[in-house]
Amino acid sequence: MPSPYGGGIYSYISLIHFEYFHIESTMKSVEQTFSSSLTADPIDNNQSRQVAEAHYSFVTPEFTENPLLVHSSAEMHKELGMDAMSAVEFLEIVSGNGKLQGQQPYAMAYGGHQFGHWAGQLGDGRAINIGELHGKTTDWALQLKGAGRTPYSRTADGYAVLRSSIREYLCSEAMFHLGVPTTRALSIIETNRDVLRDVLYNGNPAYEKGAVVCRVAPSFIRFGSFELFASRSDKKNLQKLVSYSAKKLGLDLTFDHKQDYLTFFEHILNSTVDLIVAWQRVGFVHGVMNTDNLSIHGVTIDYGPYGWLEEYDPNWTPNTTDAQNRRYRFGNQPGIAFWNLVRLANALYPLINETEGLQNVLSTFEPTFEKKYQQMMGEKLGLFEEDKHDESLVDDLTNILTKSKVDMTLFFRRLSGFNPEEIKDYLTVIEQDSYLDKAAFDAHTSEWERWLLAYSERLSSETTTKEERMAKMNKVNPKYVLRNYMAQEAIDAANEGNYSLVDELFSILKSPYSEQEDKEKWFVKRPSWADHKVGCSMLSCSS
Ligand code: AMP
Ligand code: MG
Repeated sequence: MPSPYGGGIYSYISLIHFEYFHIESTMKSVEQTFSSSLTADPIDNNQSRQVAEAHYSFVTPEFTENPLLVHSSAEMHKELGMDAMSAVEFLEIVSGNGKLQGQQPYAMAYGGHQFGHWAGQLGDGRAINIGELHGKTTDWALQLKGAGRTPYSRTADGYAVLRSSIREYLCSEAMFHLGVPTTRALSIIETNRDVLRDVLYNGNPAYEKGAVVCRVAPSFIRFGSFELFASRSDKKNLQKLVSYSAKKLGLDLTFDHKQDYLTFFEHILNSTVDLIVAWQRVGFVHGVMNTDNLSIHGVTIDYGPYGWLEEYDPNWTPNTTDAQNRRYRFGNQPGIAFWNLVRLANALYPLINETEGLQNVLSTFEPTFEKKYQQMMGEKLGLFEEDKHDESLVDDLTNILTKSKVDMTLFFRRLSGFNPEEIKDYLTVIEQDSYLDKAAFDAHTSEWERWLLAYSERLSSETTTKEERMAKMNKVNPKYVLRNYMAQEAIDAANEGNYSLVDELFSILKSPYSEQEDKEKWFVKRPSWADHKVGCSMLSCSS
């Protein structure tokens, strides 16, 4: 059997043991559909530049001497048919030192609106697609993040640091197991490269360990991919990208009628709604919802300064860079998703030359979101029968959660244990364990009593038994989420060469809805030592 990757450069590790010559790999490379269907940049070098009339540029990942595997996902190995592959061969591929058979690495061109402003050409400045594989469930594109410069790097270095790579690696797998649509992660390696970053953006840059995450998605096409071609009035390449994207979305469209464009747009709108509902369910705040960070597949992409709501606060953003305007705050995520969809509609407009249809599709956003949001909140509360009063029950709850600064994850997870006969006792439960601010909580106990009374009355009209309700609620209210301080503890240890916490968190977060009694120490509000520690609550974009 020929080696499944073509003549890449061998790192020292290839010399140790060529066991893959004896193993039948089940990995199936496919024809590289992105690069064969779309337009290549004719210039072949990694020099930063504007790339006109092309969807991508061929690039070469930077060679990594002695790459070190920090962690890899056995589940993704299996999905990609890489489970039989030797460690040596695997490391070659996920470090960018070797190539997947018949596939040529490339970086994609895209543009985007950043913080509300058109930013022009952005593109994969530090992400390199290494190819596509037939997985067990679907076809996947594989991408290395942090493997060096590309024509889209502008003045930046093309690298990623271990800190932000661990955050992306752990979080994307955690999100998948939470049932939130997301890009997946196959592996994380250390590169032995020192990377200069100013973590606090306060003029104190320091060297950090470099890393590369191999992430995996059906494609890495973003809203901003379309915006780039629309902004340049490049209708030919815009059309090509739309046709290709539709195929990737599994849509059978020929685009010889306007309706096909609307169907395409509607599909993206609906999956974006589902994504935001899922984020709001688990209290995830993306932090940088620029149009270049929204996937056409409705999956979470580009894990930067994200975070989870701890004390419930719709105004909270984890992103220090956005602390002033809070554009990307928790409560604004649905509105921003809509704003981004309007940008996408604008980018598709040149192909249709008619606003009405696009506007009609856009007008479905709010009612669709509201319906799905209310249904999701009902499920979190264990309310499965329809009741027109539930909307105000939900609103009242989110109001007192905010006012009394209760930890979102702890509160909802515990709620399945609520006994309608014991309202006073339940208040003690919330007070003892879940609140983050005693004074704030104490000021609202009578409101809590009122709400719990209304809730227990509402529960009495449900036909589900207490046990059924508890089981259902525990499937939508996670017990374990990757709070920033948890990730930071894993990062601190990893920076000292100890990856055991990366492994422990990875394994806990694979079953976020299970009790895992020996892991209770992670089912707590953020410890006070972490309140002001860098990386434990808010973060900058530095990565
Ligand atoms: P992000 O904020 O991570 O979504 O990145 C926004 C844009 O900046 C994208 O075009 C990235 O590829 C690019 N970028 C971010 N960090 C780097 C880096 N270290 N080197 C090159 N490009 C980068
Ligand atoms: Mg991005």
